[in-house]
Amino acid sequence: MKTILLILLFTVSGLIVAKDHQLAIVIHGGAGTILKKNLSDEKEAAIKAKLTEAINAGYAVLEKGGESTDAVIAAINVMENSPLFNSGIGAVYTKEGKHELDASIMRGSDLQAGAVAGVKHVKNPINAAKEVMLNSPHVMLSNQGADKFAKQQGLETVDNNYFDTDYRYQQWQAIQHKKDVSLSEDLLKTDHKFGTVGAVAIDKNGTIAAGTSTGGMTNKAFGRIGDSPIIGAGTYADNRSCGISATGHGEYFIRYAVAHDICARVLYKKISLEQSADEVIQHELKNAGGDGGIVGLDNKGNPVMTFNTAGMYRGFKTESSDTQVFIYKKKP
Ligand code: ASP
Repeated sequence: MKTILLILLFTVSGLIVAKDHQLAIVIHGGAGTILKKNLSDEKEAAIKAKLTEAINAGYAVLEKGGESTDAVIAAINVMENSPLFNSGIGAVYTKEGKHELDASIMRGSDLQAGAVAGVKHVKNPINAAKEVMLNSPHVMLSNQGADKFAKQQGLETVDNNYFDTDYRYQQWQAIQHKKDVSLSEDLLKTDHKFGTVGAVAIDKNGTIAAGTSTGGMTNKAFGRIGDSPIIGAGTYADNRSCGISATGHGEYFIRYAVAHDICARVLYKKISLEQSADEVIQHELKNAGGDGGIVGLDNKGNPVMTFNTAGMYRGFKTESSDTQVFIYKKKP
């Protein structure tokens, strides 16, 4: 009798704590014309190693019972601190030869969000976005005000030339001698701006968080701001549907409200995240001429990585799958 009771108790408590989602993190490091012939074996290996490090840093937070916002920050910080990506150190150059960085983060449990645009001195812009979300009544701060706020919050600030790298300088120099391409349709078709970074994570409470961080587009002028710091365009998270981080030609992602549109289709049409991302990225956006892609998680923790370019630096780890990273359209 005692044994039966114990089994019953075990089964009932098992049912009560039965999980309806798995821990998961998915990341990207930018999309574009990323072709095997343009990437040396060493660079390919270095990028894969950094993506792996970023995924594992984020997943470690989740495994320890941490929040998805912190997992997103941990993963993005690894990429911001690497010159391989167009975010943090390694950010592209503006027309004036400076760096202006954008970032945003959103939490799907209460739709809280924070963003910074055009910052020049915050070492890790995604941390500034989190401070805006948690410690200000606002959603987006820009330029000097955002830098000042980040400093007040105790974040590390740096000289603008901290973000300099030879690689991005050469890209900028090459583009300087062409016509003004700062807002051109062709940017993603050339090797000028890969490397915006982003992450989406779901924690033990089922809270989804999404974040994106970028230097924007090479040679950008007039204080141009892309989709990455815009909630609903480059970043979105809603526990009822999904979390999304985007990368690509920002002007299109803003006009098509890509991250929000994908989540809204999941919610209203009751379709899978994979189908929704397909509709938006492979049809709506592609037909309009908008290049790029997204990574996302549904509220069960299933990762999706969809892009309409030749490649996208990307990868994920879930409770049911080890860390996996990819670069090209077809798995190499
Ligand atoms: N979406 C970014 C922007 O337009 C660039 C990128 O993802 O590569 O600023």
